[in-house]
Amino acid sequence: MTSAFQTSYSPLPYFLRTGLFSPSPTPRLSVSFPSSYTRTCQSHPRFMSTPANASASTTSDVRALQDGIAEFYDESSGLWEDVWGDHMHHGFYDPDSNVSGSDHLSAQIRMIEESLRFAGISEDPAKWPKRLVDVGCGIGGSSRYLARKYGAKCQGITLSPVQAGRANVLAKAEGLADMVSFQVADALKQPFPDGQFDLVWSMESGEHMPDKAKFVNELVRVAAPGGTIIIVTWCHRDLGPHEESLQPWEKKLLNRICNAYYLPEWCSTADYVKLLQSLSLQDIKAADWSQHVAPFWPAVIRSALTWKAFISLLRSGLKTIRGALVMPLMIEGYQKGVIKFAIITCRKPE
Ligand code: SAH
Repeated sequence: MTSAFQTSYSPLPYFLRTGLFSPSPTPRLSVSFPSSYTRTCQSHPRFMSTPANASASTTSDVRALQDGIAEFYDESSGLWEDVWGDHMHHGFYDPDSNVSGSDHLSAQIRMIEESLRFAGISEDPAKWPKRLVDVGCGIGGSSRYLARKYGAKCQGITLSPVQAGRANVLAKAEGLADMVSFQVADALKQPFPDGQFDLVWSMESGEHMPDKAKFVNELVRVAAPGGTIIIVTWCHRDLGPHEESLQPWEKKLLNRICNAYYLPEWCSTADYVKLLQSLSLQDIKAADWSQHVAPFWPAVIRSALTWKAFISLLRSGLKTIRGALVMPLMIEGYQKGVIKFAIITCRKPE
């Protein structure tokens, strides 16, 4: 496992390598899990209070988190698109492969294809999904890809007005405006009626959700009977049978990532599986794809170190710079086995 992570990690300034530029703290958030579930990123005294006053502070802190997420993506999406294109997610690589610069877009497309395959989406056109929702859509890379692949209608939601606007512009420019559309909306309160979508797609947005149970409930609610739900997300490692929580050093590492990327507390893949089981979903499957994403963050760091990208990064704003400075911690988290890149899929009963 480590060998894949040790490839091609180019020399960096000391502060980048160590993540010593620790960003200023943002509020930590409560996550509603059954009490047996694990909690990380959760040291704020307000969440150690009684349930009655905890819920009041939770509401305002959720708002603060969501404002932060919107501002973070408003600020950073243009730079990301310039350097990386329209997919704001990890690539899927063969472990131990040597990756050249131009392979990253195909690795990001492969991430989409591997996710569909893992979820068992049929190759038979008669069974292709016809209505899709892209929950946490970025600038709509997955939506446009899936709409084209399946000839399907797709609706995307994001917290970032800049992303929604850009996604609609790209859809129009690519002649897809009658098939895909994007709006600002909260994944925890989706603006869709029940049972709408044959495919519910969440590519690297779950880690931003402050209430994983609500998040999963909404994904299930909007899924059509028999519809497939795909969640690809950052998790922390599963806990051992005698562990109550992560180790203090692990929590500290994740907290620093949370602060820079506007993430609430993390959960494990096993937590997602338990949530899906509690909702009686079918064909629940999960996998750890951490090895397959190993070359991604070193490549992102390398791409930020060209002069053009570096200058654009400095111009883009403080939130984006803070995000760049903790990239090495993502590599460390994967190397040390604290961070897991997870796919979790299931089907809503007919
Ligand atoms: N899935 C996209 C973008 C991933 S970036 C891609 O693969 O390209 C994470 C996305 O999640 C951003 O678009 C962000 O706005 C969105 N997001 C985070 N929290 C959200 C919420 N509560 N509701 C809707 N979107 C959310």
